[in-house]
Amino acid sequence: MEKNKMHSIDMELVEMTLDVMKYTIDRISNITPELGAPKKEEELFEMVGETITPQGIGGETAFKLFKDVLVKATVPIDHPRHLAFVPAAPTRAAIMFDLVTSASSIHGAYWMEGAGGIFCENQAMKWLVSLTGLPKDAFGVFTSGGTAANLSALVAAREDWRSKDEKHKAVKGLLLTSDGAHSSIQAMAKVMDADLEMVSCIGENLTGTELKSAIENLSAEDRKRLFAVVATGGTTNAGIIDELDTIAEVCEHEKLWFHVDCAYGGGALAAPSVRELFNGIEKADSITIDPHKWLFSPYDCGAVLYKNMELAKNAHSQKGSYLEIFKDEGAHGFNPADYQIQLTRRIRGMPLWFSLAMHGTEKYRDSIERGIELAQIASKKIQGRDYLELVRPASLSVVLYRRIGWTPNQYRDWTYKNHREGIALVTPTKWKDETISRFCFINPDTTEADIDLILDTMK
Ligand SMILES: *Cc1c(COP(=O)(O)O)cnc(C)c1O
Repeated sequence: MEKNKMHSIDMELVEMTLDVMKYTIDRISNITPELGAPKKEEELFEMVGETITPQGIGGETAFKLFKDVLVKATVPIDHPRHLAFVPAAPTRAAIMFDLVTSASSIHGAYWMEGAGGIFCENQAMKWLVSLTGLPKDAFGVFTSGGTAANLSALVAAREDWRSKDEKHKAVKGLLLTSDGAHSSIQAMAKVMDADLEMVSCIGENLTGTELKSAIENLSAEDRKRLFAVVATGGTTNAGIIDELDTIAEVCEHEKLWFHVDCAYGGGALAAPSVRELFNGIEKADSITIDPHKWLFSPYDCGAVLYKNMELAKNAHSQKGSYLEIFKDEGAHGFNPADYQIQLTRRIRGMPLWFSLAMHGTEKYRDSIERGIELAQIASKKIQGRDYLELVRPASLSVVLYRRIGWTPNQYRDWTYKNHREGIALVTPTKWKDETISRFCFINPDTTEADIDLILDTMK
C-alpha cells in the first residue's frame, strides 16, 4: 500500500528536521534573543502572503517566512529585560524535553495509554505537593494553565457543595475573593455561572478577620449560596500574599472550600526566604500553581492540587461508552482526565519532570531565590536615584515604583520607546489608581546591568 506522502519520510523531511534542530539549538542557546514587537496583520500579510495553498508552499519556504518575518513579530518572554506581566524563563532542559514530549506522541488522559509519561508527571507533582505541606493523600494534575486549574478546582468545590444538599442544586453558587484576585477568577466564575463577590481589603492583603466580617455581612440567602473562598498566594500585580492561615481557619469554621491561587507565586514555595508568608496553605482544599510562570517550564503548563482527590474525581471524571476500557481491570493507575476539565491532553508536566530530574530541586530553589534577590537589588537601585521612588516594598519578585512627576502618558510612551528600540519590555500598571511602573523578575539571567540600563532610560 502506498504511504500517505504527508506522513512518509522523504529527503525534504530529513533536511527540514536538521534545519528545525539547528534553529532550536541556536534559539535556546541565545540568552538575549532579539526583542521582537507586533506588526499589523496587513503588514505581516504583505510580507508573507498566503501560506495555505492546495499544493503547499513547501517546508523550506514556510520555515523561512517564520524565521525571517513572523517570529520577529513576537516578544520572547525569556528575554532578560522582559520584566512585564509575568515573564518566563524555561530551562533549556525543559524546552528540549518539550520537543521529546511532542515526538513521543503520548496521550495523557489515561494511564492505560500514557503510563510511562504520567509516571514522570506524577514524580514532578509529588515534589510540588511536598512544597505545599498538604496532607498525605493530597495530589494533583497538570493543566493548560492557571485559568484551567482555577476552573477545575472551583468546579470541584461547587460539586462537593451541591452533593451535600439537594437544595444547592437549584441555586446559583457564590464565591468570595479579594480585590487583588487575578482576572481569571472572575472570568471562570462566569464560565461556571457562579456569582463572585470581591472583599475589599483595608490593608494590602485579605485577612481572616476581613473574610469573617464579609461573610457576616452577607444576606441569609447569600450565605446559603456561598461555597468557596479564593485567596491569592502572590497577586500578579504586586506579589502580595493573603493571610492564608487565618483565612483557612474561617473557611474551616464556616465549612467553605478554601482555594489558593498561586499561579504566579507558587514557585516561591520552594524559596526558604519567603516560605513562611505562605503558612496556612497546607490547609487548602485546592491550590493552583503555574510551572510555566515561576518553575521554568515552557508554555503551557499549569497545575491544580487537591487535598481530597476523590472530590475532584466526582466532579471531573467523564463517562462514555468508548471510554470504559480505560477504567477496566488492567488499566488501573492514575488517570489525569479524572481530575480537571480536559480529556485528551498532552503530557504537559513532562518537560518540568525532565528538567527537575536533570538539575535537582536545589537548583530550582536557587533560581527562584535569585528572582526574589533581583527584586531587592532593583529596589535599592530605585532608592538610590533621585528621580525614582519605591511605591511599596518589593513582594516576592515584583517591584512597584514611580518615576517622580510622570503622567500616565509618559509611562506609556516610555514603554513603547524602549520596546521599539529593542531595549526592554517593562509595562506600567496601576496601584491605588495611580499609574506607575512595575518589574516582575523570573529569569535568573537578568543582570544588575540590565536593571541599570532600564532605570537609566527613565532619567
Ligand atoms: C497568571 C495567573 C493566572 C492565570 O493563569 P494562566 O496560566 O495565564 O491561565 C491566574 N491566577 C494568577 C494569580 C496568575 O498570576
